[in-house]
Amino acid sequence: MKLAEGIRRHGFRKWYERQLLQSHGHLVVTFFCMIGVFAAIDGMRGAMGWAARAEGILTAAVCAAAGMWALRRYLWLMQHAELAAHQAECPQCKAYGRLELVQSDASGDRVTVRCRGCGHGWRIEI
Ligand SMILES: [Zn+2]
Repeated sequence: MKLAEGIRRHGFRKWYERQLLQSHGHLVVTFFCMIGVFAAIDGMRGAMGWAARAEGILTAAVCAAAGMWALRRYLWLMQHAELAAHQAECPQCKAYGRLELVQSDASGDRVTVRCRGCGHGWRIEI
């Protein structure tokens, strides 16, 4: 979910929490894919014939590809969440995450926000 849409729908803190949960879900998928790769390699040890080995290689390759995708997604989501989190403190009153959306660009990744405590405005770019 884009930053602007997330702040508008749920508020910054909930958006951030959801980003972290989603990214760690991808980390769990990465872990299961690693188990799939190791299981496929282990299953090839006793395999007889080219068809059984090809099946093991194919399974390991699919699990490795899915694991790489999930790991990249985990890192991307974490990076963007942390980048936004480092800019979520009000420069004036130092309140963290207490902000509301004022406006955003078309991509939804550059937003102007306003502090709910003191009303100071600033930009967050991820
Ligand atoms: Zn403030």
